[in-house]
This record gives sequence, C-alpha cells and structure tokens, in this order.
Amino acid sequence: MEALIEFVTDSTVCKRNAVLAYFGEKRKRVCGQCSGALCKKAYTEEIDLKPKVIQLLKSKPHSIQELKQKLYFEPQALHQLLKSLLDEEQIIMEQDYKYHWNYE
Ligand SMILES: [Zn+2]
Repeated sequence: MEALIEFVTDSTVCKRNAVLAYFGEKRKRVCGQCSGALCKKAYTEEIDLKPKVIQLLKSKPHSIQELKQKLYFEPQALHQLLKSLLDEEQIIMEQDYKYHWNYE
C-alpha cells in the first residue's frame, strides 16, 4: 500500500521504472513516455520541437508567448531550442521582441 501511494504521488520518477523497481528490476534509462517529470522532459526535448518551431517561424515572426501557445511545450525545452537557434543564427530577435527566421 505504501509503495502504491508513493507511486501515485511521486511525480518526479519514471513510472515504468518505479513499477519495474518494485518487482526487483533496475533500469537506468527513463522510458520517456510516462507522466514522470524526468520522462516528460526527455519526451518534449525529443519530439519534433525543432522542426515545429522552425516551421512556425518560417510562416511568420513569433514572440515566445505565441510559440508557447501554439506548441504546448515545456518552457525550458523551448528556451533551450531558441537559444541554440539564435547561436546558430538560424533565427534572430528583432526590436519587436519576436523571433524571425533568418534564412530564405
Ligand atoms: Zn517513464
């Protein structure tokens, strides 16, 4: 019962690994698909975030708020991606505080 309560209330760990650990199996990698915080992070960073952001910015400039509204991604993953795109000069931030696609 205690293990079950911990499983339901702990939002940080990988749920799959928690179940496996309960039955004595240890996994190092998280599954990337459950609702655990670690898995959500892995999930949002992997799933097509970059192509989606690039597609949006190619269509028109977006502020970070507009991107968040359209993408539903964890802000952290989005900030990291925008920073790397800025570093690569694929996008630029103009005086309107919107990100503009820098090519084509
Ligand atoms: Zn998981």
